[in-house]
Amino acid sequence: MRILLIGPQASGKGTQGDLLAKKLGVRHLATGDLFRAEKQAGTELGKRITMSIDAGELVPDEVTWKMIKAHLDEQRGGWVLDGFPRTLNQAELLDAYAKPEKVVVLDTPDEICIERISGRRICETCGKEYHSKYKPPKQQGVCDVDGSRLIQRPDDNEEAVKRRLEIYHEQTEPLLAHYVDRLVRVDGSPGIDEVWQEIERKLGI
Ligand code: AMP
Repeated sequence: MRILLIGPQASGKGTQGDLLAKKLGVRHLATGDLFRAEKQAGTELGKRITMSIDAGELVPDEVTWKMIKAHLDEQRGGWVLDGFPRTLNQAELLDAYAKPEKVVVLDTPDEICIERISGRRICETCGKEYHSKYKPPKQQGVCDVDGSRLIQRPDDNEEAVKRRLEIYHEQTEPLLAHYVDRLVRVDGSPGIDEVWQEIERKLGI
Protein backbone atom coordinates (compact mmCIF):
# COMPACT_ATOMS: atom_id res chain seq x y z
CA MET A 1 0.00 0.00 0.00
CA ARG A 2 1.31 3.46 -0.93
CA ILE A 3 -0.39 6.30 0.92
CA LEU A 4 0.23 10.04 1.09
CA LEU A 5 -0.79 12.23 4.00
CA ILE A 6 -1.38 15.87 3.11
CA GLY A 7 -2.31 18.66 5.47
CA PRO A 8 -1.03 21.90 6.95
CA GLN A 9 1.49 21.94 9.80
CA ALA A 10 0.15 20.42 13.02
CA SER A 11 -2.85 18.89 11.24
CA GLY A 12 -1.75 15.55 12.70
CA LYS A 13 0.18 14.03 9.79
CA GLY A 14 2.95 12.71 12.03
CA THR A 15 0.62 11.16 14.61
CA GLN A 16 -1.82 9.68 12.11
CA GLY A 17 1.05 8.60 9.84
CA ASP A 18 2.51 6.51 12.67
CA LEU A 19 -0.87 4.85 13.35
CA LEU A 20 -1.45 4.19 9.65
CA ALA A 21 2.00 2.73 9.01
CA LYS A 22 1.69 0.47 12.06
CA LYS A 23 -1.71 -0.82 10.97
CA LEU A 24 -0.59 -1.44 7.38
CA GLY A 25 2.82 -2.85 8.34
CA VAL A 26 4.77 -0.39 6.21
CA ARG A 27 7.28 2.40 6.96
CA HIS A 28 6.17 5.92 7.79
CA LEU A 29 8.49 8.34 6.03
CA ALA A 30 8.27 12.04 6.92
CA THR A 31 10.55 14.40 4.99
CA GLY A 32 10.54 16.89 7.89
CA ASP A 33 11.79 14.18 10.31
CA LEU A 34 14.42 13.01 7.83
CA PHE A 35 15.68 16.58 7.33
CA ARG A 36 15.75 17.22 11.09
CA ALA A 37 17.78 14.02 11.58
CA GLU A 38 20.32 15.24 8.99
CA LYS A 39 20.46 18.60 10.77
CA GLN A 40 20.94 16.95 14.15
CA ALA A 41 23.69 14.70 12.79
CA GLY A 42 25.45 17.73 11.26
CA THR A 43 25.83 16.10 7.82
CA GLU A 44 26.66 18.14 4.69
CA LEU A 45 22.98 17.94 3.72
CA GLY A 46 21.99 18.97 7.24
CA LYS A 47 24.14 22.10 7.03
CA ARG A 48 22.76 23.04 3.60
CA ILE A 49 19.11 22.85 4.64
CA THR A 50 19.21 24.38 8.14
CA MET A 51 18.49 27.94 7.05
CA SER A 52 15.53 26.99 4.83
CA ILE A 53 13.98 24.79 7.50
CA ASP A 54 14.32 27.24 10.36
CA ALA A 55 12.78 30.02 8.25
CA GLY A 56 9.83 27.83 7.25
CA GLU A 57 10.89 27.87 3.58
CA LEU A 58 10.87 24.78 1.38
CA VAL A 59 14.11 22.95 0.66
CA PRO A 60 14.76 22.91 -3.13
CA ASP A 61 12.91 20.11 -4.98
CA GLU A 62 16.09 18.41 -6.33
CA VAL A 63 17.58 18.16 -2.84
CA THR A 64 14.32 16.89 -1.32
CA TRP A 65 13.72 14.35 -4.09
CA LYS A 66 17.25 12.96 -3.88
CA MET A 67 16.87 12.40 -0.14
CA ILE A 68 13.37 10.90 -0.14
CA LYS A 69 14.06 8.69 -3.17
CA ALA A 70 16.97 7.05 -1.35
CA HIS A 71 14.54 6.11 1.45
CA LEU A 72 11.77 5.00 -0.92
CA ASP A 73 14.21 2.74 -2.74
CA GLU A 74 14.56 0.72 0.48
CA GLN A 75 10.79 0.17 0.87
CA ARG A 76 9.50 -2.69 -1.24
CA GLY A 77 6.18 -3.32 0.52
CA GLY A 78 4.83 0.23 0.36
CA TRP A 79 4.92 3.34 2.51
CA VAL A 80 3.05 6.10 4.24
CA LEU A 81 4.56 9.41 3.13
CA ASP A 82 4.04 12.58 5.12
CA GLY A 83 5.33 16.01 4.12
CA PHE A 84 6.08 14.90 0.57
CA PRO A 85 5.10 15.95 -2.05
CA ARG A 86 4.56 19.61 -1.18
CA THR A 87 4.71 21.05 -4.71
CA LEU A 88 3.28 20.00 -8.06
CA ASN A 89 6.80 19.39 -9.36
CA GLN A 90 7.47 16.99 -6.43
CA ALA A 91 4.16 15.19 -7.14
CA GLU A 92 5.22 14.68 -10.76
CA LEU A 93 8.61 13.30 -9.69
CA LEU A 94 6.84 10.85 -7.37
CA ASP A 95 4.24 9.84 -9.99
CA ALA A 96 7.02 8.94 -12.42
CA TYR A 97 8.59 6.76 -9.69
CA ALA A 98 5.53 5.16 -8.02
CA LYS A 99 2.00 6.51 -7.99
CA PRO A 100 0.35 6.70 -4.57
CA GLU A 101 -2.84 4.64 -4.30
CA LYS A 102 -4.61 6.86 -1.77
CA VAL A 103 -4.08 10.45 -0.70
CA VAL A 104 -5.43 11.27 2.75
CA VAL A 105 -6.02 14.98 3.33
CA LEU A 106 -6.33 16.24 6.90
CA ASP A 107 -8.55 19.31 6.50
CA THR A 108 -7.68 21.59 9.42
CA PRO A 109 -8.34 25.34 9.73
CA ASP A 110 -5.33 27.63 10.20
CA GLU A 111 -6.51 28.78 13.68
CA ILE A 112 -6.49 25.20 14.99
CA CYS A 113 -3.02 24.56 13.50
CA ILE A 114 -1.66 27.71 15.15
CA GLU A 115 -3.19 26.79 18.50
CA ARG A 116 -1.74 23.26 18.30
CA ILE A 117 1.72 24.52 17.37
CA SER A 118 1.93 26.66 20.49
CA GLY A 119 1.84 23.48 22.63
CA ARG A 120 4.03 21.33 20.39
CA ARG A 121 7.40 20.13 21.72
CA ILE A 122 10.01 17.72 20.36
CA CYS A 123 12.75 15.69 21.99
CA GLU A 124 16.07 17.45 21.40
CA THR A 125 17.78 14.07 20.91
CA CYS A 126 15.43 11.66 19.11
CA GLY A 127 12.94 14.16 17.66
CA LYS A 128 9.83 12.42 19.04
CA GLU A 129 6.86 14.79 19.06
CA TYR A 130 4.67 15.69 22.02
CA HIS A 131 1.92 18.17 22.78
CA SER A 132 1.37 19.67 26.22
CA LYS A 133 -2.40 19.14 25.97
CA TYR A 134 -3.11 16.48 23.33
CA LYS A 135 -0.09 14.17 23.58
CA PRO A 136 1.73 14.91 26.85
CA PRO A 137 4.89 13.06 27.95
CA LYS A 138 4.71 10.98 31.15
CA GLN A 139 6.92 13.55 32.90
CA GLN A 140 6.59 17.21 31.94
CA GLY A 141 9.43 18.47 29.72
CA VAL A 142 11.11 15.05 29.44
CA CYS A 143 11.10 12.54 26.54
CA ASP A 144 9.45 9.18 27.37
CA VAL A 145 11.89 7.36 25.08
CA ASP A 146 15.33 8.62 26.11
CA GLY A 147 14.80 11.06 28.99
CA SER A 148 16.15 14.05 27.02
CA ARG A 149 14.83 17.60 27.27
CA LEU A 150 11.76 18.59 25.23
CA ILE A 151 12.17 21.78 23.20
CA GLN A 152 10.14 23.90 20.79
CA ARG A 153 11.01 23.34 17.11
CA PRO A 154 13.05 26.31 15.81
CA ASP A 155 10.55 26.66 12.93
CA ASP A 156 7.57 26.82 15.31
CA ASN A 157 8.17 30.56 15.86
CA GLU A 158 5.45 33.01 14.76
CA GLU A 159 7.14 34.16 11.55
CA ALA A 160 8.04 30.69 10.25
CA VAL A 161 4.59 29.33 11.15
CA LYS A 162 2.97 32.10 9.08
CA ARG A 163 5.28 31.40 6.16
CA ARG A 164 4.62 27.64 6.27
CA LEU A 165 0.85 28.18 6.21
CA GLU A 166 1.23 30.53 3.22
CA ILE A 167 3.31 27.93 1.38
CA TYR A 168 0.75 25.24 2.20
CA HIS A 169 -2.12 27.24 0.71
CA GLU A 170 -0.17 28.45 -2.31
CA GLN A 171 1.92 25.43 -3.28
CA THR A 172 0.62 22.31 -1.55
CA GLU A 173 -3.16 22.74 -1.70
CA PRO A 174 -3.15 22.64 -5.53
CA LEU A 175 -2.09 18.98 -5.16
CA LEU A 176 -5.66 18.17 -4.11
CA ALA A 177 -6.77 18.75 -7.70
CA HIS A 178 -3.83 16.70 -9.00
CA TYR A 179 -4.89 13.70 -6.88
CA VAL A 180 -8.64 14.21 -7.20
CA ASP A 181 -9.29 10.59 -8.29
CA ARG A 182 -7.68 9.09 -5.17
CA LEU A 183 -8.47 11.68 -2.51
CA VAL A 184 -9.73 10.70 0.97
CA ARG A 185 -10.76 13.85 2.85
CA VAL A 186 -10.81 13.69 6.62
CA ASP A 187 -11.64 16.39 9.16
CA GLY A 188 -8.37 16.97 11.05
CA SER A 189 -9.88 19.20 13.74
CA PRO A 190 -11.13 16.68 16.34
CA GLY A 191 -8.91 14.73 18.75
CA ILE A 192 -6.38 12.06 17.75
CA ASP A 193 -8.72 9.05 18.26
CA GLU A 194 -11.63 10.56 16.37
CA VAL A 195 -9.48 11.48 13.37
CA TRP A 196 -7.92 8.02 13.35
CA GLN A 197 -11.34 6.32 13.39
CA GLU A 198 -12.42 8.39 10.41
CA ILE A 199 -9.25 7.47 8.50
CA GLU A 200 -9.80 3.77 9.23
CA ARG A 201 -13.42 3.99 8.17
CA LYS A 202 -12.80 5.94 4.97
CA LEU A 203 -9.86 3.74 3.90
CA GLY A 204 -11.77 0.59 4.89
CA ILE A 205 -8.81 -0.80 6.87
P1 AMP B 1 7.58 19.36 8.56
O1 AMP B 1 8.18 18.61 9.69
O2 AMP B 1 6.81 18.48 7.62
O3 AMP B 1 6.79 20.56 9.03
O4 AMP B 1 8.80 19.94 7.68
C1 AMP B 1 9.74 20.83 8.25
C2 AMP B 1 10.49 21.56 7.16
O5 AMP B 1 11.25 20.63 6.36
C3 AMP B 1 9.64 22.33 6.15
O6 AMP B 1 9.19 23.57 6.62
C4 AMP B 1 10.65 22.46 5.00
O7 AMP B 1 11.64 23.42 5.27
C5 AMP B 1 11.31 21.09 5.01
N1 AMP B 1 10.56 20.13 4.17
C6 AMP B 1 9.86 19.05 4.60
N2 AMP B 1 9.29 18.42 3.57
C7 AMP B 1 9.63 19.11 2.45
C8 AMP B 1 9.33 18.98 1.07
N3 AMP B 1 8.54 17.99 0.62
N4 AMP B 1 9.85 19.88 0.22
C9 AMP B 1 10.64 20.88 0.65
N5 AMP B 1 10.95 21.09 1.93
C10 AMP B 1 10.45 20.21 2.84
